[in-house]
Amino acid sequence: MSSATSATPNPNSNSDFKQLQVAIIGGGLGGLSAAIAFRRAGHLVNIYERRNFNVEVGASISCAANGTRWLREWDVDIPDMKPVVLMKLVMREWTTGQILNEYSLENYVEEWGDYCYMFHRQDMHATLLKTAISTEGVGTPAKVVIDHICESVDPDNGIVTFKNGVTVHADLIIGADGIRASITPSQSIVRGQISVRPDAKSAPQTCYRCNVRREDIDRLGLVKYSYDPAIQFWGGIQGPGVDGRSKFYKIVMTPCSGGDIVSFYCFMPTELTKNHQEGFVFEEVPVSEILAGKYSELDPDCVDLLKNSVDRMPWRLYLHQPYSHWFKGNTCILGDAAHPMMPHQSQGACQAIEDAAALGIIFSNKYKFTRDVAAGLELYQAIRKPRATRVQAASARAMENLNERIGFTSLTPHDATLAAAEGKLTVNEMNTYDMHGHIAASVKALYKDQTENELMDKAVCVERLNSVRLGISIEQGSLQYSAKL
Ligand SMILES: Cc1cc2nc3c(=O)[nH]c(=O)nc-3n(C[C@H](O)[C@H](O)[C@H](O)COP(=O)(O)OP(=O)(O)OC[C@H]3O[C@@H](n4cnc5c(N)ncnc54)[C@H](O)[C@@H]3O)c2cc1C
Repeated sequence: MSSATSATPNPNSNSDFKQLQVAIIGGGLGGLSAAIAFRRAGHLVNIYERRNFNVEVGASISCAANGTRWLREWDVDIPDMKPVVLMKLVMREWTTGQILNEYSLENYVEEWGDYCYMFHRQDMHATLLKTAISTEGVGTPAKVVIDHICESVDPDNGIVTFKNGVTVHADLIIGADGIRASITPSQSIVRGQISVRPDAKSAPQTCYRCNVRREDIDRLGLVKYSYDPAIQFWGGIQGPGVDGRSKFYKIVMTPCSGGDIVSFYCFMPTELTKNHQEGFVFEEVPVSEILAGKYSELDPDCVDLLKNSVDRMPWRLYLHQPYSHWFKGNTCILGDAAHPMMPHQSQGACQAIEDAAALGIIFSNKYKFTRDVAAGLELYQAIRKPRATRVQAASARAMENLNERIGFTSLTPHDATLAAAEGKLTVNEMNTYDMHGHIAASVKALYKDQTENELMDKAVCVERLNSVRLGISIEQGSLQYSAKL
């Protein structure tokens, strides 16, 4: 990485560029990604986090090529995140663990231009934080302010007020305050302040997560395939017979943290959960709470792993309808705050990274939106909301039907056309998406009558954004985006 001084973008390259004071509420994966994108775009960033950073949960997170490519574009030190490169998917039979199907991901990089990684969330969080605040790298290091609980936002005047009485002013406010804030109305902060009313209901499926240490696997002689560089599934489909196992029973097992930890997501019908607490609780649950219902029939090798697990926590799941809007005045929402989704496409964090990437591009010195933040946020919403909403809907459908899960191998042009006609999300559209091109095409369509040097007129911009039609076509099996007035 280069030094801060030499690598700081030259704001003078676009005479309309204005350095913004950006306040990010929430220092999770989305907020930190936004901090990196904004500092690289030449802005001054403060991240306000309600707690200290010691509580990011210990579970795996998969980062597909559409997320990884931004980490690379932002010079994030990916090896520092101790990635496991995914090489295969394995489907196992619930009761015996017998392999039903195995898919190789060996050609993933060739096909999609980047890796599909498994990270441990804490490793990913730590490296993103380091990148955001480091004195090395492009732009001015972001500042982190912990123990600041956002209480209210004035989106028109750019004012954030915290529970401790501190008030700050910013040119641009980003609500990256996560999914939990969206459920309980009394906790809804930035989302509520921009008048979004969440419509969420408890999902019929819920989740427990836990980890098994590789040293314990070796010491206790548990199955070594558990730390293969693979995602391994049990269940997820209706079991045999009329009262067979429900499709909501599913296990997802992956190694992370360089293979030192094997992480489990154990899904089951919600009515079996004993734990109805919202969000993260920090008291471990007994393994008997996970081994409920049809878990009594689970593959004994898998049960042995679960019995030797640590960090066992419930993770309640909610089905969210898309929100009506993502911004008001100079305030927007991002990540789970904007598009909370079920975990079945493994895209929540990747979509938060894409949000951050879009904001970084829109407010870069390539465009003129630093002079009209609201117009830039309107474009951000136009660019990001349709795509994130498609992923959100497909994540909910994949809970009901495993065939809705995007694959990892490219579809033939014929299959991609069929899938798109059925409204299905495809791996092609996730991994071949050209965000730079999409934004450039949209800006071109918005300002086609204006000369390069003309300053934007907000009224014209907003009116045009409302009439921009995003074209989606399939060329050579991948979805192409264009924008037309
Ligand atoms: C079971 C499960 C498995 C998943 N697996 C994957 C996966 O494999 N791949 C993937 O891409 N995604 C996955 N996800 C989704 C992913 O974890 C989330 O989408 C992602 O973490 C969202 O990041 P965020 O920054 O928006 O929110 P968060 O990471 O929740 O961060 C929000 C931050 O805001 C802070 N905050 C909240 N309120 C306030 C306030 N009032 N003031 C100040 N700070 C505040 C919080 O303390 C927190 O630090 C999974 C999710 C689940 C439930």
